[in-house]
Amino acid sequence: MARVYNWQLGRQMSYWYPESRPQRQFAAVFDTNKCIACQTCTLACKTTWTSGVGQEYMLWNNVETKPYGFYPLGWDLKLLDMLEGQKWSEREYEGQKINHYDGSTIFESAPAGERVLGWRPEDQDYSYPNVGEDDCAGQVDGGASFSMEHMAWFFYLARICNHCTYPACLSSCPRGSIYKRPEDGIVLVDQGRCRGYQECVKACPYKKVFFNPMTGTSEKCIACFPKIESGLQPQCFVNCIGKIRLAGWISTPDKARPDNPIDYLVHIRKIALPLFPQFGLEPNVYYIPPVHVPQSFTRQMFGPGVAEAVSAYRNAANDPDLAGLLSLFGSTEMMVPRWKRQGEQVVGMNEGGEILRVPLTEPVHIRPAYDRLYQISRTNCP
Ligand code: SF4
Ligand code: SF4
Repeated sequence: MARVYNWQLGRQMSYWYPESRPQRQFAAVFDTNKCIACQTCTLACKTTWTSGVGQEYMLWNNVETKPYGFYPLGWDLKLLDMLEGQKWSEREYEGQKINHYDGSTIFESAPAGERVLGWRPEDQDYSYPNVGEDDCAGQVDGGASFSMEHMAWFFYLARICNHCTYPACLSSCPRGSIYKRPEDGIVLVDQGRCRGYQECVKACPYKKVFFNPMTGTSEKCIACFPKIESGLQPQCFVNCIGKIRLAGWISTPDKARPDNPIDYLVHIRKIALPLFPQFGLEPNVYYIPPVHVPQSFTRQMFGPGVAEAVSAYRNAANDPDLAGLLSLFGSTEMMVPRWKRQGEQVVGMNEGGEILRVPLTEPVHIRPAYDRLYQISRTNCP
């Protein structure tokens, strides 16, 4: 095993291959507070990439309701149970306070002779996406009672492949069929090399590789790379009804730029956090945590930065830069690698210059009930 640096853990860790970061890394920020679980993203992906034979059960993008929703069943709970001692501490590093993960990653906890600590779902674990997970309480028959702890909250978690910096799928493949593109960090399965051993399915802690029984190969989210290559955001981003998503490029913390939207949200304002950073993959989809959920729950899910992120988000209305950048989400199909605020407007830019402007405050137009031009009366529906 090589030693590599994982900035999300604040330390070095063991990984099967030496550290090799791409020229630029595809990344995204999802705002969980805006997701309405409409599943438009799920269907946009399904109809684009997984409508073929053998792909019926595949959801490269899925949206589940936490705490009781999973796809596949128990994907996160099973691994959290297997990984013991997930503790964080605060340390001083080059004059700055950083969060340091004191527990073991899935690479460091791998059983003897294996590269990753993982588990393979059964077929039936994929059988019931979203069934019953939104119910606060089901029917209680004949005096029975709900015996689990009953939460008074829930939130929607949209998930795609994280195009991890240290992918477990890639490290586990005995054929070397999975690769990370040097030009954009997107992780792909070489369909010509894959022999269907499914080690990747077992290794990915997010369960975002799926086995196709018809082709005998594994398949996964490709980050809509033909769109990325044309300067466009993926399908699940541009079709998102809640405008919760922004795609872009992330730098390492030492190279963070305030005019890069992803760097600004992740490194500078620290409002967007990785999903289960303790697994050790340095995942590249970042989440603005839900503000209404107990932090004892979200801290385990998004790491020790939750309190700071929630506090910054709650104050966004008084923070024109942050509020402005959040309003760029879902405003264009194009990738927005640069941004700035100009007074009451936020400007999105790419290599070619300005591509859009969004007002900080949406204008409200109230039409008079009587239209003199057309000499008609209108009814304004509330
Ligand atoms: S989320 Fe899973 S499938 Fe995607 S790169 Fe990471 S380990 Fe691989
Ligand atoms: S389209 Fe957007 S709002 Fe709808 S479920 Fe997907 S992520 Fe949530």
